[in-house]
Amino acid sequence: MNSEHLSKRLHTVVSFIPKGSVVADIGSDHAYLPCYAVNKGIAKSAIAGEVSDGPFTSAQKQVKSEGLEKAISVRKGDGLEVLAYPGEATCITIAGMGGTLISSILEKGKAKLEGVETLVLQPNIQANNIREWLLQNEWQLTQEEILEEDGKIYEVLVAKRGNPEEPYSAAREMDILFGPFLMKQRNDVFRKKWTHERKHWLQIIEQLNKSGNQESLQKKEQLERYIQYAEEVLR
Ligand code: SAM
Repeated sequence: MNSEHLSKRLHTVVSFIPKGSVVADIGSDHAYLPCYAVNKGIAKSAIAGEVSDGPFTSAQKQVKSEGLEKAISVRKGDGLEVLAYPGEATCITIAGMGGTLISSILEKGKAKLEGVETLVLQPNIQANNIREWLLQNEWQLTQEEILEEDGKIYEVLVAKRGNPEEPYSAAREMDILFGPFLMKQRNDVFRKKWTHERKHWLQIIEQLNKSGNQESLQKKEQLERYIQYAEEVLR
């Protein structure tokens, strides 16, 4: 992968960036995504945010090697703190992390989200945490995609300002877990993911059965519910 040929995963993330956006890519590593988005004329300009020294230096080098220093500002910092003021970016991308970390970055940086129009989020796991966060923070989940690359399955979530309740049915817990849009499509990748998760949950339940404390009991009840849901969506 490089900034000319993105992975299928990052390509899917880019495909949801509205044309003409000022993009802030948080956790940008090599800055492949902002370089690609600017080179293709999708982003007007971009900010590449990185918290770690190594990836920050890689991002700086990449931007320099492509002569994009005027269009892409590489900044070191934690999450959205790299944005100078609310609304500096119109679209935020956060990819390649767990859903819990992505949600905590959004939560911590709430004040900087003012003026942001689009969030494109690609959790490697626990997309449900992001859906919960969006729902509680007045962001409307508008699109979702699930894809497989090199044997791994990824979800991409897009959110805009709007009615956070809009995509959800009365079966809220199920929608949050599987994704309201993905659940409607139920494509082969979706089926593969949840067939695997169901098996994994059954294994965890076996372990929990051996422990028997109150916490395990609650966890077991939740997993049993999830297994029922999975059997329903896979039917
Ligand atoms: N976004 C790229 C992608 O999807 O290919 C890189 C993903 S890499 C697995 C995650 C990157 O996020 C790492 O470079 C890490 O240093 C960075 N990161 C983790 N937490 C961060 C935070 N709170 N703020 C900024 N960057 C963060």
